[in-house]
Amino acid sequence: MSTAKSRAEVEKFMNGLVKRNPGEPEFHQAVREVVEDLMPYVLNNEDYLHARILERMTEPDRIVIFRVSWEDDAGNVRVNRAWRVQFNNSIGPYKGGMRFHPSVNLSILKFLGFEQVFKNSLTGLPMGGGKGGSNFNPKGKSDREIMRFCHSLMIELHRHVGEDTDVPAGDIGVGGREISYLFGQYKRLANEFTGILTGKGLSFGGSLVRTEATGYGCVYFCEDMLKNKGDSLEGKTCLVSGSGNVAIYTVEKATQMGARVVTMSDSSGFIYDKDGIDHEKLEFIKDLKEVRRGRISEYADRYKNAKFFNGKRPWSVPADVAFPCATQNEINHQEAKTLLKNGIIAVSEGANMPTELEGVHEFRKARILFGPAKAANAGGVAVSGLEQSQNSLRLSWGREEVDAKLKEIMINIHQQCVEYGKEGKNHVDYVKGANLAGFVKVAESMLAYGIV
Ligand code: NDP
Repeated sequence: MSTAKSRAEVEKFMNGLVKRNPGEPEFHQAVREVVEDLMPYVLNNEDYLHARILERMTEPDRIVIFRVSWEDDAGNVRVNRAWRVQFNNSIGPYKGGMRFHPSVNLSILKFLGFEQVFKNSLTGLPMGGGKGGSNFNPKGKSDREIMRFCHSLMIELHRHVGEDTDVPAGDIGVGGREISYLFGQYKRLANEFTGILTGKGLSFGGSLVRTEATGYGCVYFCEDMLKNKGDSLEGKTCLVSGSGNVAIYTVEKATQMGARVVTMSDSSGFIYDKDGIDHEKLEFIKDLKEVRRGRISEYADRYKNAKFFNGKRPWSVPADVAFPCATQNEINHQEAKTLLKNGIIAVSEGANMPTELEGVHEFRKARILFGPAKAANAGGVAVSGLEQSQNSLRLSWGREEVDAKLKEIMINIHQQCVEYGKEGKNHVDYVKGANLAGFVKVAESMLAYGIV
């Protein structure tokens, strides 16, 4: 199939999608990135074309939208909106995180749900894709306010989740504290103890290594890409953005593997520490972010060699490897070019869709090692899948066992990307590899079900 024909079909398809889903730029972006790779493949397959597989895979199975009313500490009634996007359950129950952030809207949750379908398929575990969240802002709220909000949200959500239906987890703004409040309320409403959420506390059905899994997995994936080229992370200078769950455990694993991580960030700016963020400094950040819920600028107050750059992102700092681990669209076109100009050799995406489409095109054109989110950050959902298995078996596996399984899953994802994304002798297009490998299993299942 000619590339011109394929490009024309992508534009035709995207015009229709934009018309059907107006005002959803993040969703359009996520679909375009996938469809650009899938179109030549689909045009060559009569069954996919006839079954309208792309139209069906870009339409969520269902979306639940609901009001969450709650009372703040001053006795004021507050109202938020929440969503659960159940995108596709062709290969297993819906699975994907809940995000609490004031920016949350339907477009963002549809992009995340769509990506999740491919990511979950890549893990090789039986999980469909979903995503949810609320425009609730947890920053500055007391524990009791967070509790009241979570309890109120679950009053509606509990009707739509279940261990064989939909199993949410955490994401931005939803960590161990929020999952515990949500699970406690579910248990009360349903009068049953089943693993309907992952990321639970270890004393009530959580899995070892779940907290670390997304960050660790992102580093394992990067190491696999480098290894495929006869290289490794040892001695590499790395940039990490964010200072939340994914960022913290990315820094931890990269450092353990001999890399020197020189940046971390939050929404107010980034810190640069040329000596590297070692174990002791990372413990300070864990306490700062997970316990005291402070700001990253406090790192530069504590460690005088470090500098804080207010309102800036870390991508202008010269380095070998970048791990964007904060949020979507945090590397724009210009920043991608700057990273390349400064000699970046690998980018492994810890966050979901952190690179704008033009930036992705730059990385692919430059043929660097570019691990897209749906492959590189799949370790989190993979260990969530393992948490579900342990819950069903009513037992807990040890730390080494779960970590070994995570490593094996990341190697397997890397292998699938190589299989579907190999170009010539020496190059792997990981974006194409992940998109195609994730797609095939879901598409084949949908074909097998008939017109559903
Ligand atoms: P956290 O809430 O723990 O941390 C988010 C971090 O990103 C914080 O440092 C936050 O800074 C920063 N951040 C959030 N929004 C922005 C913004 N608009 N601009 C700049 N910085 C921002 O979330 P996670 O670490 O769990 O998630 C990070 C990313 O990883 C997300 O894209 C998520 O979807 C993805 N992901 C998470 C998984 C998980 O297991 N948790 C699994 C797979 C993907 P501040 O505190 O100032 O807001």
